[in-house]
Amino acid sequence: MSGSIVLFGPPGAGKGTQADAIVESTGKPQVSTGDMLRAAVAQGTDLGMEAKGYMEAGELVPDSIIIGLIEERLTQTDAAGGVLFDGFPRTIPQAEALEKIADISLVISIEVPDESIVERIVGRRMDPETGQIYHVKFKPAPELIQGRLVQRKDDNEEAVRTRLSAYHGQTSPLKSWYSEAGILSSVNGNQAIAAVQEEISALLVQS
Ligand code: AMP
Repeated sequence: MSGSIVLFGPPGAGKGTQADAIVESTGKPQVSTGDMLRAAVAQGTDLGMEAKGYMEAGELVPDSIIIGLIEERLTQTDAAGGVLFDGFPRTIPQAEALEKIADISLVISIEVPDESIVERIVGRRMDPETGQIYHVKFKPAPELIQGRLVQRKDDNEEAVRTRLSAYHGQTSPLKSWYSEAGILSSVNGNQAIAAVQEEISALLVQS
């Protein structure tokens, strides 16, 4: 596949987890606006300072910031053969901006009902040394590293509810946008990680 892939879905759908497997099978670099913003916050850059409040509240960061980040990222040489977008685009203006600077071949929507999201997100933990994501119930970390796991600041119930409403209000309308373009494929994200991965692999082979 020569173009870019968009991984689409509500917060906690498993986009980051599935992204690892897609990167491995396609060789396309992962471009996660969430990861880029968290790195900017950790480094204390001006952009990070501006984004921090929105992120902690679970609100979307303004389009101008996100579009600037992506425009800059796509100038890097590893993006020339297409990338895997994770968590971008999240609004119609972002999708419009993306259309001008990248060729999207496939949009994979990971479908998970709202009822499952809160439990998934509140139990999510990350190993800061490897970036690996675990879940206290669904994907427990090896005992040896459990002491060093961290929880994202916005992985609490209040922020999750705000993130879900941002998803339904601003992001999910993009599904019809990409469906009309004929490039949207949906997978059932409410099953075992390996089963979701299999559905995604099948889509990658077809396209
Ligand atoms: P994520 O890791 O994708 O769940 O993103 C974490 C947070 O970063 C979101 O709740 C937003 O505050 C912000 N964010 C990430 N990507 C975007 C985006 N494409 N547009 C607006 N805000 C974003």
